[in-house]
Amino acid sequence: MRTAMEVGRIGSAELKDLVAGGSTLDLVFPVASLARLAALSPSAGHETSLRASLSFQSAAEGYSQVFPQVHVRVSGAVDLACQRCLQPLVLPVAIDALLTMVSSEEQAAELADPFDTVLLEDGELAPAQVVEDEVLAGLPLAPRHSDETSCGRDARMISGETHRPMAGLADLFGRGDRQGEE
Ligand SMILES: [Zn+2]
Repeated sequence: MRTAMEVGRIGSAELKDLVAGGSTLDLVFPVASLARLAALSPSAGHETSLRASLSFQSAAEGYSQVFPQVHVRVSGAVDLACQRCLQPLVLPVAIDALLTMVSSEEQAAELADPFDTVLLEDGELAPAQVVEDEVLAGLPLAPRHSDETSCGRDARMISGETHRPMAGLADLFGRGDRQGEE
C-alpha cells in the first residue's frame, strides 16, 4: 500500500508499463491532502481518508486506436458539514468506475462514452486528481443527516428518549434472569 505522497504523477513510460502489465496500484489519500474535498470538510479532512485501487488495462474502442483504461475503485469516508444543522456528517464513499485515458478532447470524442475519460497531461496521470474528481462527482449536492432527528442539539435529546425503552427492555431481561435463578 503506497500513500499518495509517494506517487504524485505517473509518467508516460511508467503508465505504459502499468497498462502492459495489467498492474494495480493501491493508494491511501488522507482527505486533508485533497484540497477541494478538504475545503468541504468541517475538520479540513484531518479525520478521514480514502483508499483507492487503480487497475490498469489496455483496450477501449476508439475508431483509430486503442486507448488504455484505468479501473478506479475508491472506498472510505469524507466528513462534510450537514446542510441542515451544519454539524459534521461522515459520508461513506464507494466508487467503482472504468475510465479511458486519452491525451486530448479530440480523442475523447472518438469514444462511445466520451464522459468516462481521464485527460492525461503530457501523457502523465495524476492519481490524486482522478480520485478527487470521482469522489466530488459522486457527492450529494446538499449533504444532510439521514433524518431531522439526527441533526444538531435536539437530536441528542431525542436519541436520549429513544434509548430509554431499550434500558427498560434490559431491566425486563434482568428481571427475567433473576426469576430464572429463583
Ligand atoms: Zn444535520
